Amino acid sequence: MTQVTKLSSIIHCDMDAFYASVEQLSNPELQDKPVVIGGNPKSRGVVATCSYEARKFGIRSAMPLAEAFRRCPHAIFLPPDFSKYKKASKEMHKIFYDYTPLIEPISLDEAFLDVTGSLNLFGTVESIGTEIKQRVKQELGLTVSVGIAHNKFLAKLASDMSKPDGFLVISRERLQEFLDPLDVGRIWGVGQKTAQRLKNLNIRTIRDVRLLDKRILENLFGSYGHQLYLLARGIDNRPVESDRQVKSVGREITFAVDITAYDQLERVVMELSVDVGRHLRRTQMQGKTVTLKVKYNDFKTITRSKTLDIAANLDEIIYSEARGLLENTLTKPIRLIGVSVHNLTEKSDNQLSLFGEGEESKSKLTRAMDIVRDKFGEESITRARLLDVKD
Ligand SMILES: [Mg+2]
Repeated sequence: MTQVTKLSSIIHCDMDAFYASVEQLSNPELQDKPVVIGGNPKSRGVVATCSYEARKFGIRSAMPLAEAFRRCPHAIFLPPDFSKYKKASKEMHKIFYDYTPLIEPISLDEAFLDVTGSLNLFGTVESIGTEIKQRVKQELGLTVSVGIAHNKFLAKLASDMSKPDGFLVISRERLQEFLDPLDVGRIWGVGQKTAQRLKNLNIRTIRDVRLLDKRILENLFGSYGHQLYLLARGIDNRPVESDRQVKSVGREITFAVDITAYDQLERVVMELSVDVGRHLRRTQMQGKTVTLKVKYNDFKTITRSKTLDIAANLDEIIYSEARGLLENTLTKPIRLIGVSVHNLTEKSDNQLSLFGEGEESKSKLTRAMDIVRDKFGEESITRARLLDVKD
């Protein structure tokens, strides 16, 4: 039997004790200590989040601060610093965007990623999840729990159940076996009230829910009853909805020493173009407008753009446009230079090329080089290509 429907690959990423971890990262004195984010323990507020060291004392999110203080008077109580958390969240999203533009943020520290379209480029959903987890640790110093499944409900369940520092895949084959013994409270949308109502009816596990007739569930819970019926079977068809369209992909660099040599600029523009092209291909995007940004040593900034007839994502095309825009810009020493591509549209892997055969083979070559770079690192090919262009 052939499988007709294309299965989704969903990753749910959830940072562990996010606010507290960011605070501990920014102040080494807080490391390995019970840290409670929420504010003054004598105030009437509640705990926003707390470090795992604080959790050992029974402190939990949403607990009154006074209660947290009673449990652990020597904990360090801090007011939340959202600008700090937003910054960390942005960094985390940058990593996500390397793998897919389909990101649905749930909160600052939690998001769904649909990587179905990225599998051709990156291998398996598991390898993407592993890479994201490693990069968040290495690049941001934070731990993220990763849940993987073919829909949002199961992906979130997987990360919740593997926390902290978790990594869990719920496979389709073993999904019912996995779900059945779980408490009803694990079902998406079942809060304390609904859980209590179910337990009063002696419905304690997901299996208990599954064995109920659909009509009984609908009589008990109205339209949510139908959802319960589906969720108990691991069925969830909600798509990952990215709230913002990616409008552009760009790279820029600020020089330690202002640049005055044209060939040096050209070289940097090439490297930036390769980076941008690579990111576009990774996320299966292409763009029509190439923009060059130049900031001089007096901080005056200019931007120049060129719109192509056909959207592109090949390094050569981006570079040749950017290099064209670079002409006559070196009127003063340059402090920063940037290349970006706007006017983005999706480009799937197997989309027919609108270019002639020449472009087709360039595109194949680029893809081959992407594979080498995935394997051996960014530097492996870029340098050789720079030399090529010089010739
Ligand atoms: Mg979290």
